[in-house]
Amino acid sequence: MNTQVTGVIVVGAGGAGLALATELALAGVPAVVLDRLPGRNLQSRAGAIQPRTAEMLALRGLLDDALGRSIDYRLVGGHFAGLPVPLDYAAWDTRYPHPVLLPQDQLEAVLEDRLTELGGRVLREHLLTGLHQDAGGVTVTVTTPDGGGRTLRGRYLVACDGAHSTVRKTVGASFPGQPATVRMGTADLLLTGDVDGSTAGHISSRIHTSPEGHFAMITPLADGLHKLIFSGPGTMRAERDAPVTPEEVREVLRATHGGALDVAEIRYASRFSNASRQLEHYRHGRVFFAGDSAHIHSPAGGQGLNLGVQDAFNLGWKLAAVLRGETGEELLDTYQGERHPVAARVLALTRAQGVVMGPQRDGGIGELRDVLTDLLRLPDANRYMAGVMAGLDLCLASPDAAAHPLLGLRMPDVDLDLVDGDGGRVRFSELTRTGRGVLLDLTGAPLDAAAPWDGRIIRVRARAEAGALDAEAVLVRPDGYVCWAGGAGLAATLTRWFGPAGSVAAGE
Ligand SMILES: Cc1cc2nc3c(=O)[nH]c(=O)nc-3n(C[C@H](O)[C@H](O)[C@H](O)COP(=O)(O)OP(=O)(O)OC[C@H]3O[C@@H](n4cnc5c(N)ncnc54)[C@H](O)[C@@H]3O)c2cc1C
Repeated sequence: MNTQVTGVIVVGAGGAGLALATELALAGVPAVVLDRLPGRNLQSRAGAIQPRTAEMLALRGLLDDALGRSIDYRLVGGHFAGLPVPLDYAAWDTRYPHPVLLPQDQLEAVLEDRLTELGGRVLREHLLTGLHQDAGGVTVTVTTPDGGGRTLRGRYLVACDGAHSTVRKTVGASFPGQPATVRMGTADLLLTGDVDGSTAGHISSRIHTSPEGHFAMITPLADGLHKLIFSGPGTMRAERDAPVTPEEVREVLRATHGGALDVAEIRYASRFSNASRQLEHYRHGRVFFAGDSAHIHSPAGGQGLNLGVQDAFNLGWKLAAVLRGETGEELLDTYQGERHPVAARVLALTRAQGVVMGPQRDGGIGELRDVLTDLLRLPDANRYMAGVMAGLDLCLASPDAAAHPLLGLRMPDVDLDLVDGDGGRVRFSELTRTGRGVLLDLTGAPLDAAAPWDGRIIRVRARAEAGALDAEAVLVRPDGYVCWAGGAGLAATLTRWFGPAGSVAAGE
């Protein structure tokens, strides 16, 4: 059997896999994406991307396409546990202070279109069935559309194969956490009746429950479709693979909407749960995990897809730098340290939201809701929770009172007046389209010391409006995080994130 050889094997063409493959293609690194399905999954599933994901798409020039496919994104505020106080994302100084109502299949379309433009493609109906790794790489066995098999070999493999990851089981990675206590369903469907009355307003007014434990939340999709997320006694009893039936949905709608709504047609439907688990290690030798293969939790709060895409943005440029021989393998170890704590926090907050959001009001839960609602009216508490839910508060640097305040934070997408060439005004995010690091000089000092890293970073001289950016210079990683903000240590920082000066490192 012929073995196709490549740089990275990406297993799974969901949001995480496609984002990763796009980053690798942009960096010119050979990669193959495998997916067991014959085509993209057209069910909407995740309904929103959070502001940090929107910012990351903007860094690669993908946001306009995403916004063009979104449902009117200004209509919804951020929320914690569906409590009736909207989270104010604008407090985090972002250009995108709202969740963008972008159905998951549409985000995947945006990413796959870009992957195709960059010359990459997904091998559909390619089911990974086996995996073996040695000191030089990873070999996988795959069943192909004709029912035959093939093998592929890559220097690395990234498992983006979702919640029930075959790769995770194959490498024997433990997936500790809490088992499901609630089973839910989601359906893209055509409804009849007072649909607008059920979808208006903040998310807190769209959650409908019944004393018998039914739950329904309806959000609009395109083309007259709506997405229903639901549960109830029947759904709690259903097997995971049992089809969602109109009768099951009707029972939930009757209990939650008292006959105001009925289902005309179910287009797509699936089941999920609130199981909450996370891998201890995101790296097993040459195998990395990103997205739901690494962490699962209830969709309350709308975080899962966002985590996966942001995992991919963190790992993609690092893998590319190692595969291009610019830097050593140690760069890859920063992935675990930077991304594991982020998902761990989301899992904890999601479990908390499950308690607050659920139908129970006894045992102090009703009072807890009231306390949290009051707290969210306080600007500092609201800002804190907005930063967490939007993914905007992440700081990748260790706390250090002496460090520049921007260090480790996302680079603000400020307007810049370019000094060189024909000048002109750009947003910072327009400088990162090629996926390289950016050394931004804001004072006119040319920062020639960074010249040996040209090609891995771009050096840009610009001016920011007074007060927009309090720094003389900043070095920004390809994923948009500030890793140096003036002062000593530029060469050491460049070496740490982009490899040794001038020459190409030995690689491995
Ligand atoms: C109702 C609902 C609402 C949600 N809302 C939100 C939200 O608003 N915001 C949010 O961020 N998240 C939300 N989520 C979570 C989100 O859907 C998931 O976190 C997201 O799908 C994870 O993306 P992924 O790329 O990691 O995995 P997946 O999307 O599951 O993709 C995995 C891919 O791997 C492929 N695959 C699996 N096994 C193999 C194999 N052996 N060989 C080859 N290919 C394989 C699959 O075919 C699939 O295409 C929601 C989820 C649900 C159920």
